[in-house]
Amino acid sequence: MKALLKVAEGPGHLELREVPDPVPGPGQVVVKVSATGICGSDLHIQDDEYKVVPPVVIGHETAGTVAAVGAGATHWRPGDRVTSRTTISTCGRCDLCRSGRTNLCPERRFLGGHVDGGFAEYFVVPEASLLALPAQVSFEAAAVTEPLACCVHGVLELAQPAAGSLVAVSGPGPIGLLCAQAARAAGASIVVLGTSADDARFALARRLGFDLLVDVQRHDPVEAVQHLASGRAPDLVIEAAGAAGSLDQCLRLAPRGGTVLQIGLYGKPVPASMDTLVLKELRLLGSFSSTPTAWPHALELIASGAVQTEPLVTSKRPLTQWQEAFADARRKAEGKILLVPSS
Ligand SMILES: [Zn+2]
Ligand SMILES: [Zn+2]
Repeated sequence: MKALLKVAEGPGHLELREVPDPVPGPGQVVVKVSATGICGSDLHIQDDEYKVVPPVVIGHETAGTVAAVGAGATHWRPGDRVTSRTTISTCGRCDLCRSGRTNLCPERRFLGGHVDGGFAEYFVVPEASLLALPAQVSFEAAAVTEPLACCVHGVLELAQPAAGSLVAVSGPGPIGLLCAQAARAAGASIVVLGTSADDARFALARRLGFDLLVDVQRHDPVEAVQHLASGRAPDLVIEAAGAAGSLDQCLRLAPRGGTVLQIGLYGKPVPASMDTLVLKELRLLGSFSSTPTAWPHALELIASGAVQTEPLVTSKRPLTQWQEAFADARRKAEGKILLVPSS
């Protein structure tokens, strides 16, 4: 089969190669990929800013159909529609694992980083990694379960905005618009901030029902949010852009005693005024990947329609055109780009 691999450490080193079809070992399931999304972290993997263990097939935002079941794997049958959690294995013994924070286990191995992932025709995982797709959830919608699970973890499990609170989201890309929808599902009002380069993404935000939008290159973000929210300051500020300048802006947006959730990855150190953090006694919360509990929650939100993932998918391309698709993902003109295995 064709698969997109990080073949060696260092910037670049992504190659589409012919590799053997995976065979399910005991307790494992082979999934035939329908679609796999390009994540910001895949771009960081390409740049070698986010470490994986090459050679490995990358891609972790995936959905498909069970193709083959190994000995002793009893939960799945060929034809079942599934997505896979990204965390494939952890030590199971450390304090983090014991308290359910398996995303932080030092021995965590993840799909598309340590274990061959979804930019391929097939991938193989332990059967416990899979979740069944509700009937009304399409493969396209389901390929976005992983980023939504990350947002559910950050927004609903860590930051926990109250019903009626005001949440500002910096960055209207797929992660920002998923965080915004998760916070709205919790009953919060939402302001979305972006730059003049985000026009297409603002249009997408509007289609998802967000009408409090701020172009920070045309308006001072603090004044604009106050104006849109009738003088209120955001109870929670979410940094989902991972762009230089955005963190400092989020620290400025947060009120005294407020909270900033950092979910974007920058790939490098960024300048920000830590004095603002101190003087306003802000809480800066990091959020990494997802917990096992965030996945069923994410699928419920998609199935109920509380979070729409399909409109975030702005194109589907054959896996063979990965280079162009990765380049387009960097340009931020699009929402989520899905790669579809080429036959
Ligand atoms: Zn991702
Ligand atoms: Zn552990």
